[in-house]
Amino acid sequence: MPKAQETVLEIDLKALKNNFKHLKSKLKNRTKFLAVVKAFGYGSDAVEIAKYLEEHGVDYFAVAYASEGVELRKAGITTPVLVLHPIPTNFKTIINNCLEPNLYNAKVLNEFIEAATKENQTDYPVHIKFNTGLNRLGFWENDVDYVISKIKATPAVKVTSVFSHLAASEDLNEKEFTLNQIETFNSIAKNFTNNIGYQPMLHICNTSGILNYPDAHFDMVRSGIGLYGFGNSEKENKDLTPIASLKTIISQIHKIEKGGSVGYNRGFKSDDFLKTATLPIGHADGIGRQYGNGKGYAVINGIQAPIIGNVCMDMIMVNVTHIDCNEGDEVIIFDSKATAENLAQSTGTISYELITSISQRVKRVFFR
Ligand SMILES: *Cc1c(COP(=O)(O)O)cnc(C)c1O
Repeated sequence: MPKAQETVLEIDLKALKNNFKHLKSKLKNRTKFLAVVKAFGYGSDAVEIAKYLEEHGVDYFAVAYASEGVELRKAGITTPVLVLHPIPTNFKTIINNCLEPNLYNAKVLNEFIEAATKENQTDYPVHIKFNTGLNRLGFWENDVDYVISKIKATPAVKVTSVFSHLAASEDLNEKEFTLNQIETFNSIAKNFTNNIGYQPMLHICNTSGILNYPDAHFDMVRSGIGLYGFGNSEKENKDLTPIASLKTIISQIHKIEKGGSVGYNRGFKSDDFLKTATLPIGHADGIGRQYGNGKGYAVINGIQAPIIGNVCMDMIMVNVTHIDCNEGDEVIIFDSKATAENLAQSTGTISYELITSISQRVKRVFFR
Protein backbone atom coordinates (compact mmCIF):
# COMPACT_ATOMS: atom_id res chain seq x y z
CA MET A 1 0.00 0.00 0.00
CA PRO A 2 1.32 3.49 -0.81
CA LYS A 3 2.30 5.62 2.19
CA ALA A 4 -0.41 7.91 3.51
CA GLN A 5 -0.07 11.57 2.53
CA GLU A 6 -2.96 12.84 4.60
CA THR A 7 -5.39 11.42 7.15
CA VAL A 8 -7.08 8.41 5.55
CA LEU A 9 -9.05 5.37 6.56
CA GLU A 10 -7.89 2.54 4.35
CA ILE A 11 -10.34 -0.30 3.86
CA ASP A 12 -8.92 -3.65 2.82
CA LEU A 13 -11.68 -5.49 0.95
CA LYS A 14 -9.55 -8.62 0.65
CA ALA A 15 -9.43 -8.82 4.43
CA LEU A 16 -13.22 -8.36 4.44
CA LYS A 17 -13.56 -11.29 2.06
CA ASN A 18 -11.32 -13.48 4.23
CA ASN A 19 -13.24 -12.58 7.39
CA PHE A 20 -16.51 -13.36 5.60
CA LYS A 21 -15.13 -16.70 4.40
CA HIS A 22 -13.82 -17.56 7.85
CA LEU A 23 -17.12 -16.79 9.56
CA LYS A 24 -19.02 -18.70 6.89
CA SER A 25 -16.76 -21.71 7.45
CA LYS A 26 -18.24 -21.90 10.98
CA LEU A 27 -21.77 -22.36 9.59
CA LYS A 28 -23.66 -25.27 8.15
CA ASN A 29 -24.23 -24.95 4.41
CA ARG A 30 -27.89 -24.12 4.78
CA THR A 31 -27.41 -21.39 7.40
CA LYS A 32 -27.89 -17.93 5.93
CA PHE A 33 -25.48 -15.06 6.57
CA LEU A 34 -26.74 -11.60 7.43
CA ALA A 35 -24.09 -8.87 7.31
CA VAL A 36 -24.65 -5.99 9.72
CA VAL A 37 -23.66 -2.76 7.95
CA LYS A 38 -25.18 -0.24 10.35
CA ALA A 39 -23.29 2.91 11.39
CA PHE A 40 -21.55 3.32 7.99
CA GLY A 41 -20.47 -0.30 8.01
CA TYR A 42 -18.96 0.04 11.50
CA GLY A 43 -17.28 3.25 10.43
CA SER A 44 -15.85 1.99 7.15
CA ASP A 45 -18.40 2.61 4.37
CA ALA A 46 -21.73 0.80 4.31
CA VAL A 47 -22.27 1.06 0.55
CA GLU A 48 -18.83 -0.24 -0.48
CA ILE A 49 -19.00 -3.04 2.09
CA ALA A 50 -22.52 -4.00 1.04
CA LYS A 51 -21.67 -3.96 -2.67
CA TYR A 52 -18.66 -6.16 -2.09
CA LEU A 53 -20.52 -8.64 0.11
CA GLU A 54 -23.46 -8.72 -2.29
CA GLU A 55 -21.04 -9.71 -5.06
CA HIS A 56 -19.72 -12.44 -2.78
CA GLY A 57 -23.09 -13.96 -2.02
CA VAL A 58 -24.25 -12.59 1.33
CA ASP A 59 -27.92 -13.41 2.05
CA TYR A 60 -29.15 -10.42 4.03
CA PHE A 61 -28.13 -7.03 5.34
CA ALA A 62 -29.09 -5.25 8.54
CA VAL A 63 -28.93 -1.57 9.41
CA ALA A 64 -30.11 0.21 12.55
CA TYR A 65 -32.23 2.95 11.00
CA ALA A 66 -34.36 3.40 7.90
CA SER A 67 -32.15 6.16 6.49
CA GLU A 68 -29.21 3.76 6.42
CA GLY A 69 -31.27 1.28 4.42
CA VAL A 70 -32.33 4.00 1.98
CA GLU A 71 -28.63 4.72 1.27
CA LEU A 72 -28.11 1.07 0.36
CA ARG A 73 -31.09 1.07 -1.99
CA LYS A 74 -29.94 4.32 -3.62
CA ALA A 75 -26.61 2.63 -4.30
CA GLY A 76 -28.39 -0.23 -6.07
CA ILE A 77 -28.23 -2.89 -3.37
CA THR A 78 -31.07 -5.38 -4.01
CA THR A 79 -30.40 -7.91 -1.22
CA PRO A 80 -33.05 -7.87 1.55
CA VAL A 81 -32.33 -5.29 4.28
CA LEU A 82 -33.54 -5.73 7.86
CA VAL A 83 -34.02 -2.45 9.74
CA LEU A 84 -33.17 -3.32 13.35
CA HIS A 85 -34.57 -0.21 14.98
CA PRO A 86 -37.34 1.25 12.86
CA ILE A 87 -39.15 4.36 14.09
CA PRO A 88 -42.85 4.78 13.18
CA THR A 89 -42.37 8.13 11.47
CA ASN A 90 -40.24 6.32 8.85
CA PHE A 91 -42.63 3.45 8.03
CA LYS A 92 -43.65 4.87 4.66
CA THR A 93 -39.98 5.32 3.71
CA ILE A 94 -39.32 1.74 4.80
CA ILE A 95 -42.10 0.39 2.59
CA ASN A 96 -41.23 2.59 -0.38
CA ASN A 97 -37.65 1.33 -0.28
CA CYS A 98 -38.50 -2.35 0.28
CA LEU A 99 -36.80 -2.39 3.67
CA GLU A 100 -37.89 -4.98 6.22
CA PRO A 101 -38.70 -3.72 9.73
CA ASN A 102 -38.01 -5.37 13.05
CA LEU A 103 -41.33 -5.22 14.91
CA TYR A 104 -40.54 -5.29 18.61
CA ASN A 105 -43.55 -4.04 20.54
CA ALA A 106 -47.31 -3.59 20.20
CA LYS A 107 -47.10 0.06 19.15
CA VAL A 108 -44.64 -0.62 16.36
CA LEU A 109 -46.47 -3.78 15.24
CA ASN A 110 -49.85 -2.08 15.04
CA GLU A 111 -48.57 1.10 13.46
CA PHE A 112 -46.61 -0.85 10.86
CA ILE A 113 -49.65 -2.96 9.96
CA GLU A 114 -51.60 0.27 9.59
CA ALA A 115 -48.91 1.78 7.33
CA ALA A 116 -48.62 -1.36 5.18
CA THR A 117 -52.39 -1.50 4.81
CA LYS A 118 -52.49 2.15 3.77
CA GLU A 119 -49.79 1.44 1.17
CA ASN A 120 -51.90 -1.49 -0.16
CA GLN A 121 -49.33 -4.12 0.76
CA THR A 122 -49.96 -7.85 1.07
CA ASP A 123 -47.54 -10.23 2.79
CA TYR A 124 -45.07 -7.41 3.42
CA PRO A 125 -41.97 -9.06 4.96
CA VAL A 126 -41.50 -8.25 8.65
CA HIS A 127 -39.30 -9.63 11.42
CA ILE A 128 -40.55 -10.16 14.95
CA LYS A 129 -38.06 -9.64 17.77
CA PHE A 130 -38.35 -11.26 21.17
CA ASN A 131 -36.54 -10.15 24.28
CA THR A 132 -34.83 -13.11 25.94
CA GLY A 133 -32.67 -11.26 28.47
CA LEU A 134 -30.94 -8.26 26.90
CA ASN A 135 -33.92 -6.15 27.96
CA ARG A 136 -33.46 -3.65 25.17
CA LEU A 137 -35.95 -4.20 22.31
CA GLY A 138 -38.40 -7.03 21.85
CA PHE A 139 -41.72 -8.62 22.74
CA TRP A 140 -41.77 -10.86 25.79
CA GLU A 141 -42.35 -14.60 25.64
CA ASN A 142 -45.94 -14.24 26.83
CA ASP A 143 -46.73 -11.85 23.93
CA VAL A 144 -46.60 -14.66 21.33
CA ASP A 145 -50.39 -15.17 21.22
CA TYR A 146 -51.00 -11.43 20.92
CA VAL A 147 -48.51 -11.01 18.05
CA ILE A 148 -49.95 -13.98 16.19
CA SER A 149 -53.52 -12.75 16.58
CA LYS A 150 -52.53 -9.36 15.11
CA ILE A 151 -50.62 -10.92 12.21
CA LYS A 152 -53.39 -13.38 11.40
CA ALA A 153 -55.96 -10.62 11.34
CA THR A 154 -54.30 -8.80 8.44
CA PRO A 155 -53.21 -9.73 4.90
CA ALA A 156 -50.77 -6.78 4.91
CA VAL A 157 -47.74 -8.45 6.52
CA LYS A 158 -46.03 -11.82 6.65
CA VAL A 159 -43.42 -12.89 9.19
CA THR A 160 -40.12 -13.58 7.43
CA SER A 161 -38.23 -14.22 10.62
CA VAL A 162 -38.45 -14.48 14.38
CA PHE A 163 -35.31 -13.43 16.21
CA SER A 164 -33.65 -12.39 19.43
CA HIS A 165 -30.32 -10.93 20.52
CA LEU A 166 -27.75 -12.27 22.97
CA ALA A 167 -26.59 -10.09 25.85
CA ALA A 168 -23.19 -11.59 26.60
CA SER A 169 -22.23 -13.99 23.82
CA GLU A 170 -18.55 -12.96 24.04
CA ASP A 171 -18.32 -13.61 27.79
CA LEU A 172 -17.89 -17.29 28.63
CA ASN A 173 -18.42 -16.50 32.33
CA GLU A 174 -22.01 -15.78 31.30
CA LYS A 175 -22.45 -19.05 29.43
CA GLU A 176 -25.31 -20.20 31.65
CA PHE A 177 -27.19 -16.95 31.04
CA THR A 178 -26.62 -17.22 27.28
CA LEU A 179 -27.72 -20.85 27.13
CA ASN A 180 -30.82 -19.80 29.02
CA GLN A 181 -31.51 -17.08 26.42
CA ILE A 182 -31.13 -19.66 23.65
CA GLU A 183 -33.49 -22.06 25.43
CA THR A 184 -36.10 -19.33 25.90
CA PHE A 185 -35.77 -18.42 22.22
CA ASN A 186 -36.23 -22.06 21.23
CA SER A 187 -39.44 -22.28 23.20
CA ILE A 188 -40.76 -18.97 21.77
CA ALA A 189 -39.87 -20.11 18.25
CA LYS A 190 -41.65 -23.42 18.65
CA ASN A 191 -44.77 -21.81 20.01
CA PHE A 192 -44.73 -19.10 17.32
CA THR A 193 -44.19 -21.48 14.41
CA ASN A 194 -46.86 -23.93 15.59
CA ASN A 195 -49.45 -21.18 15.81
CA ILE A 196 -48.66 -19.00 12.81
CA GLY A 197 -48.98 -21.97 10.45
CA TYR A 198 -45.80 -21.42 8.44
CA GLN A 199 -42.08 -21.52 9.16
CA PRO A 200 -40.37 -18.12 9.61
CA MET A 201 -36.56 -18.07 9.70
CA LEU A 202 -35.04 -18.10 13.17
CA HIS A 203 -31.88 -16.26 14.28
CA ILE A 204 -30.19 -15.17 17.49
CA CYS A 205 -26.38 -15.13 16.99
CA ASN A 206 -24.18 -12.10 16.51
CA THR A 207 -20.45 -12.56 15.78
CA SER A 208 -19.50 -13.91 19.21
CA GLY A 209 -22.60 -16.08 19.14
CA ILE A 210 -21.44 -17.59 15.84
CA LEU A 211 -18.04 -18.38 17.35
CA ASN A 212 -19.09 -19.51 20.83
CA TYR A 213 -22.51 -21.10 20.31
CA PRO A 214 -22.35 -23.26 17.15
CA ASP A 215 -25.53 -25.11 18.14
CA ALA A 216 -27.52 -21.88 18.15
CA HIS A 217 -27.01 -20.75 14.56
CA PHE A 218 -30.60 -21.67 13.62
CA ASP A 219 -31.50 -20.54 10.05
CA MET A 220 -29.38 -17.39 9.90
CA VAL A 221 -26.64 -15.55 11.80
CA ARG A 222 -26.02 -11.81 12.04
CA SER A 223 -22.42 -10.70 11.95
CA GLY A 224 -21.02 -7.22 12.24
CA ILE A 225 -17.77 -6.88 14.16
CA GLY A 226 -16.36 -10.18 12.86
CA LEU A 227 -16.63 -9.02 9.26
CA TYR A 228 -14.68 -5.92 10.19
CA GLY A 229 -11.98 -8.10 11.73
CA PHE A 230 -12.58 -8.43 15.47
CA GLY A 231 -13.57 -11.62 17.25
CA ASN A 232 -13.92 -10.30 20.80
CA SER A 233 -11.23 -12.71 22.05
CA GLU A 234 -7.52 -13.24 21.47
CA LYS A 235 -8.11 -16.68 20.08
CA GLU A 236 -10.75 -15.59 17.56
CA ASN A 237 -8.81 -12.46 16.56
CA LYS A 238 -6.07 -14.71 15.16
CA ASP A 239 -8.34 -15.87 12.34
CA LEU A 240 -9.74 -12.42 11.51
CA THR A 241 -8.05 -9.33 10.08
CA PRO A 242 -9.14 -5.76 10.88
CA ILE A 243 -10.18 -4.30 7.54
CA ALA A 244 -9.70 -0.62 8.48
CA SER A 245 -6.40 1.18 8.94
CA LEU A 246 -6.41 4.76 10.16
CA LYS A 247 -3.32 6.59 8.99
CA THR A 248 -2.08 10.14 9.04
CA ILE A 249 1.18 12.07 8.69
CA ILE A 250 3.46 14.31 10.72
CA SER A 251 2.60 17.94 9.94
CA GLN A 252 5.25 19.53 12.14
CA ILE A 253 7.96 18.60 14.63
CA HIS A 254 8.72 20.86 17.61
CA LYS A 255 11.51 20.90 20.13
CA ILE A 256 10.17 21.80 23.56
CA GLU A 257 12.50 23.04 26.28
CA LYS A 258 12.23 21.98 29.91
CA GLY A 259 9.37 23.97 31.47
CA GLY A 260 7.52 24.39 28.17
CA SER A 261 3.96 23.23 27.71
CA VAL A 262 2.02 21.55 24.91
CA GLY A 263 -1.53 22.20 23.75
CA TYR A 264 -4.67 23.88 25.06
CA ASN A 265 -4.92 24.59 28.77
CA ARG A 266 -1.19 23.81 28.88
CA GLY A 267 -2.40 20.22 29.32
CA PHE A 268 1.17 18.90 29.23
CA LYS A 269 4.11 20.52 31.02
CA SER A 270 7.56 19.32 30.17
CA ASP A 271 10.13 18.55 32.85
CA ASP A 272 12.80 17.75 30.30
CA PHE A 273 13.77 18.43 26.68
CA LEU A 274 11.10 16.97 24.40
CA LYS A 275 10.45 16.40 20.71
CA THR A 276 6.80 16.48 19.65
CA ALA A 277 4.99 15.76 16.39
CA THR A 278 1.73 17.48 15.48
CA LEU A 279 -0.69 15.24 13.54
CA PRO A 280 -3.70 16.38 11.46
CA ILE A 281 -6.32 14.31 13.29
CA GLY A 282 -8.39 15.32 16.31
CA HIS A 283 -11.60 14.78 18.20
CA ALA A 284 -13.62 15.94 15.19
CA ASP A 285 -12.13 12.97 13.32
CA GLY A 286 -13.05 10.50 16.04
CA ILE A 287 -10.06 10.53 18.37
CA GLY A 288 -11.93 11.56 21.50
CA ARG A 289 -10.57 13.71 24.32
CA GLN A 290 -10.21 10.61 26.47
CA TYR A 291 -7.25 9.51 24.34
CA GLY A 292 -5.26 12.57 25.39
CA ASN A 293 -2.80 13.07 28.23
CA GLY A 294 -0.77 9.93 27.76
CA LYS A 295 -3.59 7.40 27.38
CA GLY A 296 -3.74 6.91 23.61
CA TYR A 297 -0.88 6.75 21.15
CA ALA A 298 0.09 6.74 17.50
CA VAL A 299 2.68 4.46 15.92
CA ILE A 300 5.54 6.05 13.99
CA ASN A 301 8.20 3.93 12.31
CA GLY A 302 6.97 0.99 14.39
CA ILE A 303 7.29 2.76 17.75
CA GLN A 304 4.46 4.00 19.99
CA ALA A 305 4.27 7.77 20.43
CA PRO A 306 1.95 8.71 23.32
CA ILE A 307 -0.53 11.54 22.81
CA ILE A 308 0.50 14.40 25.07
CA GLY A 309 -1.69 17.18 26.32
CA ASN A 310 -5.32 17.54 25.33
CA VAL A 311 -6.73 16.25 22.05
CA CYS A 312 -7.67 19.28 19.90
CA MET A 313 -10.54 19.38 17.41
CA ASP A 314 -8.31 18.89 14.38
CA MET A 315 -4.95 17.85 15.80
CA ILE A 316 -3.10 15.79 18.34
CA MET A 317 0.46 16.18 19.55
CA VAL A 318 2.50 13.07 20.25
CA ASN A 319 5.79 12.55 22.02
CA VAL A 320 8.46 11.48 19.52
CA THR A 321 11.55 12.23 21.62
CA HIS A 322 12.53 8.56 21.30
CA ILE A 323 11.65 8.17 17.61
CA ASP A 324 13.71 8.95 14.54
CA CYS A 325 11.14 10.70 12.33
CA ASN A 326 10.58 13.63 9.98
CA GLU A 327 7.82 15.99 8.93
CA GLY A 328 5.73 14.24 6.26
CA ASP A 329 6.33 10.73 7.66
CA GLU A 330 3.43 8.30 7.75
CA VAL A 331 1.76 7.70 11.12
CA ILE A 332 -0.42 4.73 12.06
CA ILE A 333 -3.29 5.36 14.46
CA PHE A 334 -4.52 1.78 14.07
CA ASP A 335 -4.11 -1.00 11.53
CA SER A 336 -4.08 -4.79 11.43
CA LYS A 337 -1.07 -4.94 13.80
CA ALA A 338 -1.53 -1.90 16.06
CA THR A 339 -5.20 -2.73 16.40
CA ALA A 340 -8.14 -0.48 17.12
CA GLU A 341 -9.03 -2.94 19.87
CA ASN A 342 -5.75 -2.26 21.71
CA LEU A 343 -6.01 1.49 21.23
CA ALA A 344 -9.63 1.39 22.46
CA GLN A 345 -8.52 -0.54 25.54
CA SER A 346 -6.08 2.25 26.43
CA THR A 347 -9.11 4.33 27.43
CA GLY A 348 -11.30 1.50 28.68
CA THR A 349 -13.56 1.32 25.65
CA ILE A 350 -14.10 -1.29 22.92
CA SER A 351 -13.20 -1.61 19.24
CA TYR A 352 -16.86 -1.05 18.27
CA GLU A 353 -16.81 2.48 19.69
CA LEU A 354 -13.47 3.54 18.25
CA ILE A 355 -14.09 2.30 14.70
CA THR A 356 -17.63 3.66 14.46
CA SER A 357 -16.43 7.07 15.70
CA ILE A 358 -14.16 7.83 12.75
CA SER A 359 -15.96 10.81 11.32
CA GLN A 360 -17.08 11.30 7.75
CA ARG A 361 -14.43 14.02 7.34
CA VAL A 362 -11.78 11.29 7.10
CA LYS A 363 -11.28 10.18 3.52
CA ARG A 364 -12.00 6.49 2.88
CA VAL A 365 -9.70 4.65 0.47
CA PHE A 366 -10.48 1.11 -0.72
CA PHE A 367 -8.09 -1.67 -1.65
CA ARG A 368 -9.44 -4.71 -3.47
C1 LIG B 1 -25.30 -4.69 15.96
C2 LIG B 1 -26.10 -5.94 16.03
C3 LIG B 1 -25.57 -7.17 15.59
C4 LIG B 1 -24.12 -7.35 15.21
O1 LIG B 1 -23.34 -7.66 16.36
P1 LIG B 1 -21.79 -7.96 16.26
O2 LIG B 1 -21.37 -8.19 17.67
O3 LIG B 1 -21.16 -6.73 15.69
O4 LIG B 1 -21.61 -9.14 15.37
C5 LIG B 1 -26.43 -8.26 15.52
N1 LIG B 1 -27.73 -8.16 15.91
C6 LIG B 1 -28.25 -7.01 16.38
C7 LIG B 1 -29.67 -6.99 16.81
C8 LIG B 1 -27.46 -5.87 16.48
O5 LIG B 1 -27.98 -4.74 16.96
